[in-house]
Amino acid sequence: MGTEMMPVRPEERGLAGDSGSGECAAPLGLYVHVPFCAVTCDFCAFYQKRPEKGDFRRFVDGIRRELDLVSPDRPPSTVFWGGGTPGLLPPEFIRELGEIIGGLRGGVPEEWTVELTPESVRDGRLEALREIGVNRVSLGVQTFDTRLLEIIGRRSSREAVVKAYSKLREFGFDNVNLDLMFAFPGQTLEEWEGDLREAAELGSEHLSTYCLTFEEDTALWVKLSRGEVALDEDKEIAFFGKAEEVLEGAGLFKYETSNYCRSGRECLHNLHTWRMSEWIGLGPAAASQYRGRRCANPAGLEEWLAGLDDGRRGSEDRVELTRELLAADSLIFGLRLRHGVDLAALEERFPGTVSPALRGYFCRLEGEGLAGGADEDRLWLTRRGRLVADRIGSDILEYFD
Ligand code: SF4
Repeated sequence: MGTEMMPVRPEERGLAGDSGSGECAAPLGLYVHVPFCAVTCDFCAFYQKRPEKGDFRRFVDGIRRELDLVSPDRPPSTVFWGGGTPGLLPPEFIRELGEIIGGLRGGVPEEWTVELTPESVRDGRLEALREIGVNRVSLGVQTFDTRLLEIIGRRSSREAVVKAYSKLREFGFDNVNLDLMFAFPGQTLEEWEGDLREAAELGSEHLSTYCLTFEEDTALWVKLSRGEVALDEDKEIAFFGKAEEVLEGAGLFKYETSNYCRSGRECLHNLHTWRMSEWIGLGPAAASQYRGRRCANPAGLEEWLAGLDDGRRGSEDRVELTRELLAADSLIFGLRLRHGVDLAALEERFPGTVSPALRGYFCRLEGEGLAGGADEDRLWLTRRGRLVADRIGSDILEYFD
């Protein structure tokens, strides 16, 4: 997986206060988790496996069966294939999966993104992706620096990224995201600046920048626990600042904590998610928020297929959506957006959400220089506020207990 499609939820307006009755006209997202990778990166905490003989066939058949089980009540506005490495799918399976998704009533989604690694960008695959209607590609760059790529166990190179990028343009993809990561062990601020400048020079429509995280059960976590690498929070803050300086200087707009774009090129799929719309996740480990419930599929190809044999899906992490849960998430995820949260719309969707106590908390944030608009109808975080967004999110949750 790249980092653009992070597991998140979403928002505040235009959703008719519906928590998933199936009657609302909120945008529907469709996520397909393609769980195959040739090698495992050291930082990876996503479910993925090396493909074995017959796996692609069984996976694509499984997606068809799962979609039949879900039977979506409206066509998806956005589609996102993540993973894993969707680019490992051979062209014939890309076409077949595309026909399954494209066959949903309502036709072509407004935005259809596929994550690709630079190494998987090949003519045959790009032809297949164009044919089925994919109109956005998210390229997993992570870093242009060969030394850092080695540190995270990623087989790639600057040359491979540049070649893949120009191939995407050659095939007419005019909406491209580049995924970048920072705060690698031993990475200097100058090296990060170098990555940012190289990425900006390529001229993509969108850039995602994520801080490397040390997830349990990853090779990187083992190195951390052995003391072979160390965390440095001050450095991470400096890296965040450098991204803003370089990318905004290059004409990109920071519309979300980790995401930058050129005018009008926000990732619609993620926007709908941050705005707490609905989405259906297909494939092993994929998460859904649909028809009043959050749930996830088992993180294993065999377990997922066995569930489908029994007519089951979404058997993990089941949570019934409540008004409070959706209201809290709408606020927390909405505050990740540069434009913040429309408090009047939030109140209209979830009456009683913006309580006097919560309004008081917003005023305190404003007093500390962390937020603006507390007295008006739109609350947004300042640059300093965005740096402590996680802490603010935890605080907000307490008002919904
Ligand atoms: S490409 Fe690397 S990070 Fe992405 S899913 Fe595969 S192993 Fe994980």
